[in-house]
Amino acid sequence: MNAQLFYVDLLLPMSHKEPLWDAYLFVVNDRIAEFGKQSELPLSLKSHSPKKLTDSVILPGFINSHVHLSYDNNYSSICDGQQIDWIEDLVERSRKFSPEKKLQVAKENIQSCIKAGTTFVVENTPFDETVEALNYSEINSLVGIEVFGNDPLKSDENFEYFLAKLERLQSLHPKLSFTLSPHSPYNVSDRLLQRIIDFSQKEGKKALIHLAETDFESDIIKTGEVPEGLKSFYKNLGVSEPSINSQKGMSSVEYMHSIGCLSHNLHATHLVKIRERDLALLSLVGTSVSLCLRSNAFLANGFPPLAKMLEKELPVSFATDGLSSNYDLSLLEEIKYAWFIAKSHGVNLKAEYLFESITSVPAKMFCLDRGAIENNRKADFICYKIPQSLLKSLKTPKVCIYQFLLSNLSDEKLNEVWIDGKKIFPRVSSTF
Ligand SMILES: [Zn+2]
Repeated sequence: MNAQLFYVDLLLPMSHKEPLWDAYLFVVNDRIAEFGKQSELPLSLKSHSPKKLTDSVILPGFINSHVHLSYDNNYSSICDGQQIDWIEDLVERSRKFSPEKKLQVAKENIQSCIKAGTTFVVENTPFDETVEALNYSEINSLVGIEVFGNDPLKSDENFEYFLAKLERLQSLHPKLSFTLSPHSPYNVSDRLLQRIIDFSQKEGKKALIHLAETDFESDIIKTGEVPEGLKSFYKNLGVSEPSINSQKGMSSVEYMHSIGCLSHNLHATHLVKIRERDLALLSLVGTSVSLCLRSNAFLANGFPPLAKMLEKELPVSFATDGLSSNYDLSLLEEIKYAWFIAKSHGVNLKAEYLFESITSVPAKMFCLDRGAIENNRKADFICYKIPQSLLKSLKTPKVCIYQFLLSNLSDEKLNEVWIDGKKIFPRVSSTF
């Protein structure tokens, strides 16, 4: 048995629990056994010599609910409003990566995530090399195998292909969890989407999808027509064009609902191009949501109706998306941006909620026993260094601890990252 006792100035358990000053955290093997105030340390723990994390605050490790570790910074020729050019460039570029390059990009991205306090990722990838990199790393993950397939006549064949891929990867990598990630409603036929949702419901998994992200997606769904720019894209790739049998004028969310694919077992990312009725549908079925506000801004896609989402109590997490549409993979930077940009859209996001949205909220969405400091959860936690002078001012009555931390924390102040009860950053020696 490996038992470790930590003393820390401030511990934020999250999951709506009060911050604890002068706290202890007791970890046995890979799980949190107990935590509380040092003044109330149980007698049974007094024989353990504590590791003192001085001038520090502990939080649960962050969970990135939507990321692509396969992409590097691909600031291509995209101009505002030219999302089709961007997606073409991205696909062409990433397909040209050699297997070694794919592995290297994924490994570098995983290290960037860890150094920014992320201990669990929900990855979306078509590449086995990314899976290999995740298997090699201590970071935990749910891997969405990206599914493409527009040809309605090949829906069943395609489903069997991706299911076999999932089963193959799962048996090769039992440490990882896998699901299917149908890319978007315009890149997967309705029949293939239905088979994926059926499978997800039966297996108790979440299918991952990009939904209501761009204007061209809305246009394809609304009109059933494929824009000229995209026609050549599909032709060059040698794959079928979207063939959408929607009633004219439908939104992406309405289309998903009309084909029976809006589900509690669906996790939708972006939801920028949505209407009031879409929100009611999403809330009715309990689809969980990732918002990637910096990615939306990067691609000039707009801003989701955040105030209404919160009003409808949609489960919303914030995520980075991939480096192809963001400057870094830091969730702390993501929620800092969300805080500011939401204000400029008249939405006053609570700092506490923002920290929840990258810890306990995605943990609940994906049924993970992580994302909060709680007895018997996996011991994933991170530790930031804060000067004693700042800690003192935090103790002043009426200071909002979360808002203060949102303003004062940075990735550079991240001191330690623990996953499954093991310190993985900073390393004593590099094995990665
Ligand atoms: Zn994405």
